[in-house]
Amino acid sequence: MPPFAALVREIVDFPKPGICFKDISPLLADGTGFAAAIAAMAGPWRDAGLQAVVGIEARGFILGAPLARELGIGFVPVRKPGKLPGAVIEESYALEYGSDRLQVHRDALPAGARVLLVDDVLATGGTLAAAARLMARLELQLVGGAVLMELAALGGRRLWTADAPLLATLRY
Ligand code: AMP
Repeated sequence: MPPFAALVREIVDFPKPGICFKDISPLLADGTGFAAAIAAMAGPWRDAGLQAVVGIEARGFILGAPLARELGIGFVPVRKPGKLPGAVIEESYALEYGSDRLQVHRDALPAGARVLLVDDVLATGGTLAAAARLMARLELQLVGGAVLMELAALGGRRLWTADAPLLATLRY
């Protein structure tokens, strides 16, 4: 594990009993660690010909926006319902704790744009899979997925059916 992995702390029974929450707050608060984490996430994608990072609310914004800057490309937010002001499309998904919906602007990017989907944690996989369905409906070219952390025991990778790599910087 890279040194910055030590800056991710585990908080048990949050947000409900049985969940071991991976809290990136200490990592974000550490300038060196934060920069190293973003550089590590960006590394494999530098020559991928990407046009935008698509980040999933909310921690996918915190990681995805600096990742987009690191790669010199744009950023598109995928948000919880009712947050985006323009016309949206929507997908539902099951979460490790609960269920929810995700939306993206219909006109976020032109069809065919090459995008990288970003979130902090791959747990049961429903969130990233729903975002991937949104990308497909917008006819975007999903070049890959990037998560800071994969909770491998939860098997969420099974739901990633895109013909594109899903890379995790840290695996637990
Ligand atoms: P999932 O759809 O189960 O893969 O859940 C992924 C989403 O839920 C990500 O946006 C994470 O931020 C959040 N999440 C799920 N489980 C955890 C966890 N154990 N620690 C931190 N975040 C989590």
